[in-house]
Amino acid sequence: MNNFEYYNPVKIIFGKDQIQQLSKLIPSTSKVMIIYGGGSIKENGVYEQVKKSLNDHFMIEFGGIEPNPRYETSMKAVELARENQIDFLLAVGGGSVIDATKFIAAAIPFQRGEPWTILSEKKSVKSAISFGTVLTLPATGSEMNSGSVITKEDSKEKFAFSSPFTFPQFSILDPSVASTLPKRQVANGIVDAFSHVVEQYMTYKVNAPLQDRLAESILKTLIEEGPKAYKDPADYDAMANLMWCATMALNGLIRTGVPVDWATHGIGHELTALHEIDHARTLAIVLPGVWRVLKDEKKDKLVQYAERIWGINEGSDSEKIDQAINSTESFFESLGIKTKMKDYNVGSDTIDAIIERFENRGWTALGDRQLADLPTIRNILNLQLQ
Ligand code: NAP
Ligand code: FE
Repeated sequence: MNNFEYYNPVKIIFGKDQIQQLSKLIPSTSKVMIIYGGGSIKENGVYEQVKKSLNDHFMIEFGGIEPNPRYETSMKAVELARENQIDFLLAVGGGSVIDATKFIAAAIPFQRGEPWTILSEKKSVKSAISFGTVLTLPATGSEMNSGSVITKEDSKEKFAFSSPFTFPQFSILDPSVASTLPKRQVANGIVDAFSHVVEQYMTYKVNAPLQDRLAESILKTLIEEGPKAYKDPADYDAMANLMWCATMALNGLIRTGVPVDWATHGIGHELTALHEIDHARTLAIVLPGVWRVLKDEKKDKLVQYAERIWGINEGSDSEKIDQAINSTESFFESLGIKTKMKDYNVGSDTIDAIIERFENRGWTALGDRQLADLPTIRNILNLQLQ
């Protein structure tokens, strides 16, 4: 097992009717700005619950955060917060609203140039204002980590940052508020969480059986409970299990002491930046390609995955791996998520464009042991073209 440090300060409040706890969680002297997306919270009653609970607080609001949140929009929120001397942010939404809120929290006090440089130049975040979240979509794990992914509209760049100052103070996870999710978003959530787990698992063995089994238990639960939540988002127990899986998938626990490989997310972000394909759908395209091309390098883990997750015990190692990759693709497809670029009307010119972007940024390789160099990334995408 590798050395590690593990720190996670996020208080989780999980269950039905917990939004009312906001009044106690946010100090009554705070000047609060609620941040939300395109309005789903106004249709499903979440907005009302939040407003009611914060009745006695000074509060303003900023709506209109887009899926794949924009830098330009986030900066409008920064301006509004500065004008009103806001000292507490409350994100109410999915990963996009939470990611935007993390960036806004860091950008408000940022005084070392344009806040975009936090993303483009990896300028370190040295402070951020406090924030909490009310999660409405199980998917990203953003509710219990310190990472954020922001897109710049004008240059179509999608970059991530994280910092010790951008953990939420608390996150309220009420699975009943996810009952109004369109099926497409439930499917996206399952696949995003699945991908987060395997990107911290499908590497090479470092004799960390507990971490392996933690990861495998999340995968098995996603495979069992995910389809139930997809079929009926109002199935409280299924949604509760999906929600907790998605949080556990990316709160730092399963990555302790093990190598990670974020090549799938790295390549996927480009597909979203260039073509606005939903985040999870880009992962469903890229992930099987990464495994196919790096089959030898990831052999031991792929065989373990085939046996333990899909119960594939017959055949050679190579056959087991091929079957496991096919089973994974079929699982994504069973949730209505296509796994080839052509399904999204994306052709080989996009592969050239992605390679060129990486070259221009000086990115020569991604992922575990930097195995995904540029020719390898080209192979991965070529395999997933059609
Ligand atoms: P999202 O972009 O936050 O939301 C997708 C859509 O679902 C929006 O239209 C949203 O509507 C709607 N929605 C949310 N909750 C709903 C509800 N309860 N009922 C009805 N509709 C609802 O989706 P997401 O998958 O959670 O976030 C994706 C973003 O997170 C991407 O930018 C991705 O790169 C990023 N990400 C971050 C991390 C991380 O660790 N920070 C990890 C993976 C991915 P509204 O606009 O009205 O809210
Ligand atoms: Fe993700």
